[in-house]
Amino acid sequence: MKRAVYPGSFDPITNGHIYIAERAAAIFDELWVSILVNPQKHYLFSVEERYAMARDAFSAFPNIRVDHFTGLLVDYLRQQDLQVIVRGLRAMSDFEYEFQMALMNRQLAPEVETIFIVTDAKYSYLSSSAIRDIFQFGGSIESMVPPCVIRHLHRRFFSDSQ
Ligand code: ADP
Repeated sequence: MKRAVYPGSFDPITNGHIYIAERAAAIFDELWVSILVNPQKHYLFSVEERYAMARDAFSAFPNIRVDHFTGLLVDYLRQQDLQVIVRGLRAMSDFEYEFQMALMNRQLAPEVETIFIVTDAKYSYLSSSAIRDIFQFGGSIESMVPPCVIRHLHRRFFSDSQ
């Protein structure tokens, strides 16, 4: 059974992420969408919130599982017996960073393969950071994220008393 992981921050998950996960899920028996918790990094959403949004987004996909992890990605792959890393490519600007990461991960774990799935042209400009900015300044994001993300953004920006 071939099992792959699609790791990322997913802060929050977008339709671009969902597109990549759906295509990967059609290739592998099981796809784990795994949310990275990097203690050095500041996220808009907690891991619990990012997890809840991703769970909601993939609830109709029987072979997509959502998880979270901290520490080195290759250690996580070994612990969970996952063989392949899936990453998405939007533009040449993604490539250099992704290429370096793939080489580093191969250095750390030669048995692990990284594969890249090219996004759809309509998602090539889409990123979690763009969603956070557009929403905050009142722009429409309905076509870019699933409804549960819009609900979480509303709660975060308009209901939180922090
Ligand atoms: P990270 O902090 O690991 O880059 P992200 O959540 O930003 O986490 O992205 C996770 C993966 O999804 C990366 O491989 C990124 O290139 C890819 N990705 C992000 N947005 C899109 C998109 N609109 N279309 C396709 N892939 C995307």
